[in-house]
Amino acid sequence: MRIILLGAPGSGKGTVAEGLRRAYGFPKVSTGDLLREAVREKTPLGLVAASQMGKGGLVDDATVLALLRERLSRADCRDGYVLDGFPRNLSQADSLDGLGLAGPEVVFDLRVSDETVLERLARRRTCPGCEAIYHLLDKPPKRAGLCDVCGAALVQRADDTPEVIRERLKTYHAKTEPLAARYAARGNLHLIDGDAAAPAVIAAVRAVLDPLVAAGTGGEAPR
Ligand code: AMP
Repeated sequence: MRIILLGAPGSGKGTVAEGLRRAYGFPKVSTGDLLREAVREKTPLGLVAASQMGKGGLVDDATVLALLRERLSRADCRDGYVLDGFPRNLSQADSLDGLGLAGPEVVFDLRVSDETVLERLARRRTCPGCEAIYHLLDKPPKRAGLCDVCGAALVQRADDTPEVIRERLKTYHAKTEPLAARYAARGNLHLIDGDAAAPAVIAAVRAVLDPLVAAGTGGEAPR
C-alpha cells in the first residue's frame, strides 16, 4: 500500500508516518529527511538543496525526485511505504503518477491552522541522528535535550525559525494545498483534523487503514 501524507509543515506528517511504521511496518519515506541527510553529507545534491531549504522554499523537482527514486528502489519499500512531504506541488504529483508504482494509493490531508503550525514548530526539537521528533510540552524527551531513541543531542531545525516558518507556510498554501483537490477527484483522499493531539490523529488515520490492511490490500497485519 502506498500512503501519501499531505499537510502543512508541523501538521504532524512525520509523527503519523512514525505511528504507521510502528502499526503496520511501512517505512517512512520523508523527502525532508533525505534532503537533510544529503545536506549533512555535503553531497552535490545536498549542496544544491541547502540554500532553498534555508529560505523556506521548495528544492527543485529534479533533485527531490532523484533522491526519492533511489529511496523507493530499496527492498524495504517493496510492499508499501508512507510518503511524508512528497508530492509538494502539481508537477511532483505528475512525476509520482509517472513512476507507475504498484499497489493501492491512500492519501491523507492533515488539516491544521497556521496558529497550530507556529506554536508546534517553535517547540519542536528533532534528533539529527535518527530524525525522531519531540515537542517540548506535548512530547518531551525522557532526558532533557537528548533523543530517547539514539541518545544524540536534540536540535531545533534551522528552518524552524519564525521567519522561515512563515515562508514555508506561504509555499505550502500556494503550491501544496491545491494537491488535495487532485486526490479528492480520484476518491482516495481522507481529511484528518491535524489540530488534534498526536494519538487522536494517528487513531483517525488507522481507522481508515486498518480495514484496508486487514482486507489484504497491503502491509502486515495491524499490531
Ligand atoms: P520537511 O522536513 O518536509 O518540512 O521539509 C523541509 C524542507 O525540505 C522543505 O521546506 C523544502 O525546502 C524541502 N523539501 C522537502 N520535501 C520536498 C519536496 N517534495 N519538494 C521540494 N522541496 C522539499
